[in-house]
Amino acid sequence: MRNLSNIKDIPLYDLALAYHIELTQKSSNEYCATCPACGGTDRFVIDTDKNMWFCRKSENGHRDNGDTIEFIMLVDGCDFKSACTKLENGDYGTTYTSLYTSPIQAQCAPQVTSQFDSNYFGKMLEKNFDYMNKHSQQGKYLLSRGVSLETAKTFKIGGSYAHGEKAIAIPYYNWDNNLIGGRWRILEPKDQRYHAWKGSCLKNGFGWHSHKTTSDTLIICEGEINAMSICEAEPDVNVLSMGSENSHIHPGIVAHIGNYEKVILWGDSDSCIERWTNDMPNYTRSFISPMRDGIKWDANECLKRNKLDIALHKLLTGSIGQSKAYRNQIKGW
Ligand SMILES: [Zn+2]
Repeated sequence: MRNLSNIKDIPLYDLALAYHIELTQKSSNEYCATCPACGGTDRFVIDTDKNMWFCRKSENGHRDNGDTIEFIMLVDGCDFKSACTKLENGDYGTTYTSLYTSPIQAQCAPQVTSQFDSNYFGKMLEKNFDYMNKHSQQGKYLLSRGVSLETAKTFKIGGSYAHGEKAIAIPYYNWDNNLIGGRWRILEPKDQRYHAWKGSCLKNGFGWHSHKTTSDTLIICEGEINAMSICEAEPDVNVLSMGSENSHIHPGIVAHIGNYEKVILWGDSDSCIERWTNDMPNYTRSFISPMRDGIKWDANECLKRNKLDIALHKLLTGSIGQSKAYRNQIKGW
């Protein structure tokens, strides 16, 4: 159970987005919108510094200012007690409920929910770009992982809600730029749960839609966040991420690898590297995330520690990574 101060700290900005209230930025800390209680165009104002709202007109005499609890009371027309309960349980907002089954506990492999529909998913992603900003929890999540919103946009990552829970939507495109799958990473209560759409094809890897035709280097890594981290540090290389559940590199990917002068495989585990290396051309350089002080230094960990630049530099110039994966050559990062 949250206490009162916790629920008052939930960003009003997030709450407004959860109700699909369209916000227009007026200053660094002020957003305005149509008032959910009395309309107009910009009379409803959210102050993100104070985390308070007010309505300039309050035309029908509704309460004209308040905090998160009074916001829920206003938009849901409920009393103080139920507003607190809704906030405590995260049971607020207009969610895309029809699209989801109930959340499933984290596992390595993506979980399956509804049937994938590329038209619908594409439209939803477009809408959900708005959620990806520095005030929303979805945006803050990526920023906390060191991934900028610009990079998120390059990868068309949307902020979203899955069954009332905050999530980021991750689109999978193939090499012909067709949207062929999607999944959600649920952020709360624990950042380790996935939903994928039934019928989604995730085997082609994630990141094709971010590729530049000018790049002569491809880095294949594990996981979308690692892919975005590499792009963050080195925008000139193309990245593609694979899930560790894939036992092989898809033949379609292998066929495209021929276009690259340099191919680097950056895995998180020996077993992935072993399985995947066999599918790769022999000039591929493989590399395994090193363990340091019990922590696996994958690309995202390196990014967060400000070491990804140098790691990539060494990888790209060939001073680490060989036809077999080397773990001990990273001393001096
Ligand atoms: Zn109003």
